[in-house]
Amino acid sequence: MSGISQQDDEIIWVDSDTVRRADHDRAAYVIVYQCQWDLNGSLCQMWVEGDDGEMHTHLREYHGVKGDTKDVLTCRWLGCAQERKLGSMPRHVMTHLKIRYGCSNCTRTVARGDYLRAHLRNIEACSGANVVVVPGPHARVVGRECSVLL
Ligand SMILES: [Zn+2]
Ligand SMILES: [Zn+2]
Ligand SMILES: [Zn+2]
Repeated sequence: MSGISQQDDEIIWVDSDTVRRADHDRAAYVIVYQCQWDLNGSLCQMWVEGDDGEMHTHLREYHGVKGDTKDVLTCRWLGCAQERKLGSMPRHVMTHLKIRYGCSNCTRTVARGDYLRAHLRNIEACSGANVVVVPGPHARVVGRECSVLL
């Protein structure tokens, strides 16, 4: 875990891979969301990249969400207690970030990236369209003006 200091000098905690990505290319940035996984009474509060794969890694590395993909787990996100198979937990947790995925060809937006990819596959007129990611309301951008503390 590493810190990123934002312009207002608030330090936020992210995975060191996220720091590396934000720091590697100064023109790039990553969008992060605060994890609200309940750790027996206190919240994780680490900032995780808004991406299925990164969320998967975060849940596995920091919250022990690993094992058989068919195992059923309870989501410990603040205010949620839904059960999901381990294999679909990262995508379920992503829905808590309230990211929307839009089709660049039509006005359709959906709550999950895989739903939008299915839309691009199934609707011929949209097959060449791009996925437009609309960040959730609590997104933060890291990179650019942020200094990195390693
Ligand atoms: Zn977490
Ligand atoms: Zn949940
Ligand atoms: Zn479309």
